[in-house]
Amino acid sequence: MTLKVEHLVGGYSSIPVLKDISFEVPSHSLVGLIGLNGAGKSTTINHVIGLLRPMKGTIELNGLSLQEDAAAYKNKIAYIPEIPVLYEELTLKEHLELTMMAYQLDPKEAWQKANRYLKIFRLDNKLDWFPINFSKGMKQKVMIVCALLPKVELLLVDEPFLGLDPLATHDLLMLLDEEKQAGTAILMSTHVLSTAEEVCDSFVMIDDGQLLAAGTLADLQEQSGQSDASLSKI
Ligand code: ATP
Repeated sequence: MTLKVEHLVGGYSSIPVLKDISFEVPSHSLVGLIGLNGAGKSTTINHVIGLLRPMKGTIELNGLSLQEDAAAYKNKIAYIPEIPVLYEELTLKEHLELTMMAYQLDPKEAWQKANRYLKIFRLDNKLDWFPINFSKGMKQKVMIVCALLPKVELLLVDEPFLGLDPLATHDLLMLLDEEKQAGTAILMSTHVLSTAEEVCDSFVMIDDGQLLAAGTLADLQEQSGQSDASLSKI
């Protein structure tokens, strides 16, 4: 199962933000999407999850178009957004139940997984809490737990480390590595290179909506060395 983005042109209006982006994320791999503020990382992810339609180019998962064959991907993609989005009127328990229903998970198996993740992120005694009771980092953890409940083919993660404490960052890295080992293709945008370096197999570096370099950090350093958006500035 490989995510293949080819010659993607897209954005929010008729003026493209992404000008010509191509990269791949194979299964069993975690690819870091890096670039300066405004480079187009979230916009790229928004196209992959279908929030935005490409103006040109293709986005395929295992050879099927994510736009034209969307039904084939039902329950096969999960997404952890940069800004947590929770339902104010639902408790943590209800958010988990909603996720289980949406992905049609077996409740017994899903609760086993959920209980493990809740314990890891120290949310296990907060099942009856509403979002208003949670800090930003705690909300982020709730989003992570929900996204990890289903077994998906493709996991998209947008800037996961910004609101997380060091312990939670360590725990998330461990869980992402688990997902990767289980076969999931993971695309993660981040600014925190030192942390990403621990788990990412390769990187895609974009600048002003264009692919600047791809490969290992050493490859990127070499390929982007002459650019204004060199690695040292990210
Ligand atoms: P950051 O590191 O700050 O999160 P990013 O690399 O994720 O940045 P994007 O959020 O993808 O960057 O933004 C890329 C460009 O698209 C920017 O010029 C931004 O102003 C523009 N943009 C982002 N969101 C919207 C929107 N909803 N409507 C119009 N333009 C947008």
